[in-house]
Amino acid sequence: MTLRKIYLEITTECNLDCGMCIRHAWSEPARRMARGTFQRILDDLRTVGTIETLHFGGFGEPLAHPECLEFLRQAAQAGLGTELLSNGVLLDEATAAALIDLGLDRLIVSVDQASLHDDPDFHGQAATVHANLREVYRQRLVRRASRPEVVIEFVATRKNIHELPALKRLGLQLGFSRILVTHLVPYAPELANDVLYDDWTTTRRHAEGSPWNPAIDLPRMDPRVEVQTVLDRLRASGSDVLCGGAQLSGTRMYCRFTNEGRAAVTPDGWISPCLPLLHSHAYYFRGARREILAYRLGNVLQSRLSEVWESDTYRSFRARLRDFPFSPCIDCGGCDLRSANLEDCHGNEFPTCGSCLWAAGLVQCP
Ligand code: SF4
Ligand code: SF4
Ligand code: SF4
Repeated sequence: MTLRKIYLEITTECNLDCGMCIRHAWSEPARRMARGTFQRILDDLRTVGTIETLHFGGFGEPLAHPECLEFLRQAAQAGLGTELLSNGVLLDEATAAALIDLGLDRLIVSVDQASLHDDPDFHGQAATVHANLREVYRQRLVRRASRPEVVIEFVATRKNIHELPALKRLGLQLGFSRILVTHLVPYAPELANDVLYDDWTTTRRHAEGSPWNPAIDLPRMDPRVEVQTVLDRLRASGSDVLCGGAQLSGTRMYCRFTNEGRAAVTPDGWISPCLPLLHSHAYYFRGARREILAYRLGNVLQSRLSEVWESDTYRSFRARLRDFPFSPCIDCGGCDLRSANLEDCHGNEFPTCGSCLWAAGLVQCP
């Protein structure tokens, strides 16, 4: 497996304080990547030759880093594909111009509502963000620039899912061509009831079907109430339900980070296999608090990123993730081991991934 995409967290500082933010669930001081650390990473990535995308994101606002634009410029000049994930508030006229000039490939902006009403749980300052997106679009049209592609990241909850059709209609005004919908990770207990995946069975236990529980293979159907009622009953009974080839009843756990050549780096240069293991934190799911301990495989200040990626430890971790031998803690309340990622009942040791919301396909990253 080659290294294809790096999630570079250049800062954990942010100009907003959203109620849903993971930074409420950890005790780390805010960090900012030093220029020297970035240079070391970039020098290494230049020589690796397989990197398709350098994603500026993670947990913090990249544009809050005073050298964000310079780092992006250098990454683009090095021939890397560049992505920027932003809350959109600092995306003023001059920044929009700079992003177009430096050749940013993809701009992903967090927008959780179509309306301009600010909800403290969601990403805020909606009026400013809408105005900034309009400005990016205007400048792209004036300059006849095909880039950056603009994508909206929408965190879906019970409170805002109804806004999705109205948000889609804003595409022509705000200039985005795609909405990436992801689920809320409840980093605070009061958010746990807002999620839209409480009843989702994530683990396919009878992938091929069996006489005890035959698989149901449906054609595509109108999403009518009578159809939905039947689907809900089949899913609730544990049937493996396919519709037009797509799984409706759950999926195998699959780690996109490790299986698709992705890794993440903190502002201090620590290398993790994924965003969920970048920082120790807690979240709340199905009535339980889960403590996630960060897993770090090396530091770019001590070893080259490519060496860490090719190390025996990282290789064997990736091999383990391909097989996914972890116990299905995400669907099970059988014991207290699910409250942390330290060990599981299949004998796996830290880090255990059986309750990963990303591997379950519930949380999506760009
Ligand atoms: S914009 Fe992102 S990093 Fe900033 S407070 Fe909101 S969720 Fe946290
Ligand atoms: S399964 Fe989840 S926690 Fe484990 S490496 Fe993949 S993304 Fe990270
Ligand atoms: S470790 Fe505990 S919670 Fe996880 S699958 Fe086994 S019994 Fe269930």
